[in-house]
Amino acid sequence: MENQKKASKSTVVKKLKATALASVYQKQWFFDLKERVIAGEDFAYLNADVPMEILRAMDIPFVVNQWWAAICGAKRMTSKYFGLLKDAGYRDDLCSYCATAFAESLDPDDHRLDAAGNPMGPWGGLPKPSIAITRLTCDCQGKIFELFSRQHGAAFYPMENTVPRKAPLKWYELAADRWEELYDPDRLDCAVEELHELIRFLEIKTGRMFDTNKLIEVMHLINVQEGWYKKTRDLIAESRPVPVTVVDTINAVMQAQWQRGTPWAAEHAQGLYEEIKALADAKTAAVPNEKYRLMWIGRGIWHDFGFYQRFEEKYGAVFMWSMYLAMGADAYIRNHVEEDPIRALAARYIGMEDFLHMPPWNSQWYLQQARQNHIDGVVYMVPENCMQSVEGSYFIKKTLEDAGIPVLLFKADPVDPRKWNAGTMTALVEDFIETRLK
Ligand code: SF4
Repeated sequence: MENQKKASKSTVVKKLKATALASVYQKQWFFDLKERVIAGEDFAYLNADVPMEILRAMDIPFVVNQWWAAICGAKRMTSKYFGLLKDAGYRDDLCSYCATAFAESLDPDDHRLDAAGNPMGPWGGLPKPSIAITRLTCDCQGKIFELFSRQHGAAFYPMENTVPRKAPLKWYELAADRWEELYDPDRLDCAVEELHELIRFLEIKTGRMFDTNKLIEVMHLINVQEGWYKKTRDLIAESRPVPVTVVDTINAVMQAQWQRGTPWAAEHAQGLYEEIKALADAKTAAVPNEKYRLMWIGRGIWHDFGFYQRFEEKYGAVFMWSMYLAMGADAYIRNHVEEDPIRALAARYIGMEDFLHMPPWNSQWYLQQARQNHIDGVVYMVPENCMQSVEGSYFIKKTLEDAGIPVLLFKADPVDPRKWNAGTMTALVEDFIETRLK
């Protein structure tokens, strides 16, 4: 109990300027977006795996579902929202990450002010979207977005999802240049058709015209941004001591990743690299008594980010790897975009689910990353109510442990704190460190 109290009281310490800058930027960006919506512009709500580059190129304002769920989680709003889901007759213990915005849409207070004049919804609540787009990557996603669209009176646009018949190993070596080898050709053909359909839909709905040259510009900016993430990931991997922890890199990268394709995001990624490089050059340790390099597999625990720092002082254990920076480094870059930007974009978005959720693609990548980053142990959070994110967790654990890297696997929810017991979870990791790490 004492342990639990102590754990739940701890705060999160972010050290980088780049992290603070990203937080300031995203808030201002969100308020500017709201102004555009109030002025009558179309506003799109997208699931994270939707090719947002098309909307960026068409200058259609959008918010990404998982980013918004993380904001709601960090603002500790989700317990209230999932209670509203239950009151409305839905299950409140499934798909919480993806269903947060739908649950929020049931909140009558979302756009109101409290007695002190403060907004009751996170940053005053999500503005009303006129378009909602998702991909049919799991059985639930389409239904959640359909309900969300109905609630807001938005046009619902689902996109197809395909699965691979072949799974070449080392996707991370093929993705940037050799995507025709990486994917079945008909998967790419299908995605190209889908992108043309999406463009047609958006042109008719918004009255805006798509411009291929603008898409090329967006794709170039993304390559620049992700190139900086690659340099940053490689730098951290080779640095001893570790100059920065996931508390900073997750926040800095996740916020900027959803701004990808803008000059700001590319410059921010460069600033992040330069700041970390200066720390690495000065041999500044993120955790002065560093002893164990830990890898975090899974989504961020948005409602308890201080969790990652609870093992630093006592054990010298530093969470130094997460997929957020590493996916930026390995999964997004697509070179030679001028030749066929639509096909290059297709080659970016159709593989994301495979890279993260399909063994052996995910398990082999985690192993390669664990080796590159000289990882001592892996803490792996499987979202307990997401069928898609079960992702072959058996194979991931086995692949890493067969290679001699200990894995602690537990189930939890990244946005719903109701079942999260900080003391129990902290004790679990402490036991892992004490008994499994050498
Ligand atoms: S199964 Fe997972 S990915 Fe699909 S809607 Fe539910 S939480 Fe989201």
